[in-house]
Amino acid sequence: MKLLYLGTAAAEGWPAPFCHCDNCKAARVKKGKNIRSRPQVLINDDLLMDYGPDTFSHSLQYNLNLDLVKTVLLTHSHSDHFYPLDLILRAAPYAYGQDIEAMHLFGNEKCHQMYEELLVHSEAPEHLSDFVTFSKVHAFSPFTSGKYKILPLKAVHDSRENCLLYAVTDDCGKTIFYGNDTGALCPETWEAIRQLHFNLVSLDCTMGTGATYIGHLNLDACFAIRQQMLQVGCADNNTTFVITHFSHGCCPLYDELSILASAEGFVTAYDGLCITI
Ligand SMILES: [Zn+2]
Ligand SMILES: [Zn+2]
Ligand SMILES: [Zn+2]
Repeated sequence: MKLLYLGTAAAEGWPAPFCHCDNCKAARVKKGKNIRSRPQVLINDDLLMDYGPDTFSHSLQYNLNLDLVKTVLLTHSHSDHFYPLDLILRAAPYAYGQDIEAMHLFGNEKCHQMYEELLVHSEAPEHLSDFVTFSKVHAFSPFTSGKYKILPLKAVHDSRENCLLYAVTDDCGKTIFYGNDTGALCPETWEAIRQLHFNLVSLDCTMGTGATYIGHLNLDACFAIRQQMLQVGCADNNTTFVITHFSHGCCPLYDELSILASAEGFVTAYDGLCITI
């Protein structure tokens, strides 16, 4: 399984467009791995984790053929993870000559409602639903899409909707845990994952070196999850642990962050990081 981290910032990107904090000012000068777009991961060229507002720029930056994407797993409706207006680009008169097999979105009730509103209220083409389908999914109810076995899990993030995390297994038997956005994992999710074995675990680290927060993780909380996964047995010393979804407000720049993370066995994601497991 190949994972390409297309975007690795929290909601506002880094540098945030209207922010003049020290971290944003430093990122504008240093550039490189300190420039972070909104979160999205491409798996094996055909599965996208989330469909946020930077999908278009990601397609340019990484020379992607998004026609190949048949599965999109939506974690929740926040604007950095789901930007439904861009879905109209999947059908004519905004797209011609494409593969006619539809792109399948999976997500919670709130995302489904936004998709339905797009079809009804926007200037979306009438036949958009032929090109982009939506299935509502629920935590702990597994399903398949193409060659993937998928188990949605319960996040601890925004009580106004059922935010989801995902365990994804491909046809080679490789399994990942996709863990953002979330705070410390809830007991039901721990119970569901204890029987799995992850080759890679990707965690929300929005809060970085900042204080503990309900709804997002900081470095210490990520380190604690790794230890607990090792204890429970759903990860071992061959499991790759990655942190992503960083906020300029609480995280140091890449060089400092990656030193802190690697000391505890974590890879620090950056836009363009590619990992094969
Ligand atoms: Zn987010
Ligand atoms: Zn800032
Ligand atoms: Zn969120």
